Amino acid sequence: DIRVRFAPSPTGMFHVGGARTALFNWALAEQAGGRFVLRVEDTDATRNRPEWTEGIISALDWIGINGTNPAFEGPYFQSAYEPQHREAVAKLLADGKAYYCDCTREQLVARTGSEHRGYDGHCRERGLTEGAVRFRTPDEGVTVVDDLIRGRVEFPNDAQEDFVIARTDGSPLYVLANAVDDITQAITHVVRGEEHLGNAAKQELLWPALGATPPVWAHLPVIVNEQRKKLSKRRDKVALEDYREEGYLAEAMVNYLMLLGWGPGDDREIMPWSEMVPLFRLEDVNSSSAFFDEKKLRAFNGEYIRALPIHVFEERCSPYLDPEWDRETFSKVAALAQTRITVLSEIRQNVDFLFLDQPVFDQASWDKAMKNSPVEILTGYLERLDTVSWDPESLKEALEEVGAAHGLKLGKAQAPVRVAVTGRTVGLPLFESIEVLGRERSQERLRAALA
Ligand code: GLU
Repeated sequence: DIRVRFAPSPTGMFHVGGARTALFNWALAEQAGGRFVLRVEDTDATRNRPEWTEGIISALDWIGINGTNPAFEGPYFQSAYEPQHREAVAKLLADGKAYYCDCTREQLVARTGSEHRGYDGHCRERGLTEGAVRFRTPDEGVTVVDDLIRGRVEFPNDAQEDFVIARTDGSPLYVLANAVDDITQAITHVVRGEEHLGNAAKQELLWPALGATPPVWAHLPVIVNEQRKKLSKRRDKVALEDYREEGYLAEAMVNYLMLLGWGPGDDREIMPWSEMVPLFRLEDVNSSSAFFDEKKLRAFNGEYIRALPIHVFEERCSPYLDPEWDRETFSKVAALAQTRITVLSEIRQNVDFLFLDQPVFDQASWDKAMKNSPVEILTGYLERLDTVSWDPESLKEALEEVGAAHGLKLGKAQAPVRVAVTGRTVGLPLFESIEVLGRERSQERLRAALA
């Protein structure tokens, strides 16, 4: 049975890269009817915070990875398994596969004449009974990490030092704890970021030493930004939570993240999770870096927004609207907005003019719109609104006529009216907007603009 895991460290906001790793694992588990284990690697007490753990769990939940699906197992917390980690160290010591070492850095540098040379094996046969614990690595040959994505990766053993698995105070190191947990949790496939490939070389040795058969490895390519630099929280918008708040739909996010390094093999891009799952294969994941294209993600999101049934769209917009804004009024323009916005948070600036006493004006829009005979247009239109029949077509014809009287085409004549009524130079179709706003309020705004 396939058992995969996602093993985040709660040291910051949950990252889109972590989400991609989680989704690839989730797809495998679902496809194979296997299990997905969530293991929070919380052993670095100085960098962990409970709110990061909560953030991970709620972000995973948002993208559909949660206990409502029987494939989900956990969360387990690595810190709870320290006794097992210590036991594993003790066993390796007892079996002669590890040994104590009391060398200081200075001593090692003095012996090897270099800052960069690895450990020289000095304590291997000294039979010490305390100190840091080092794992005895082979001196010759190669360690092979057979990676589903990267192929056969060889690590010459003469370059692999006897690495530390427990500190002098007895606390186990991460590389050991990670392997012990994977063994305990009967993980069959380790699918994680490329930065852990070096750990895999060590763990390929640790697993058999602990009596277990190494898992299938798959190290995912790094995700890069437009400058081809590794995505980072300092440079890029990486927190899943930020995308969520801005009004990205989980479905769009999931779809886009799945395509970071993987594709269904044809040129389809927009496809629902349920269609991706059966097609997903680790062997098809590209080993070269994946470009996180925010513009493309935005375009995906726009498509997903447009595909929502209108009542669902209205519901999803709700958090971005003030609670007291009348939902019936909103319903009248929702369909017009749905075709225009690419993230849900944009809904507000599109419809706020309907609910505020005065539109939100910005000076730049105002100046731009007020270049061509604004006073004549606004005055003329204001008058026509007294009698015009109240439907978009008539409202449009009326403005066309007013414009023509001053030598302006509709486009030009529309600009000051749009800004007077909505406060902005771009937005929903103007005449529908005026229709919904109503005669009295529209005229009020034209008058205010003229004052
Ligand atoms: N805790 C590690 C990380 O956050 C993951 C290690 C692993 O997947 O083996 O990068």
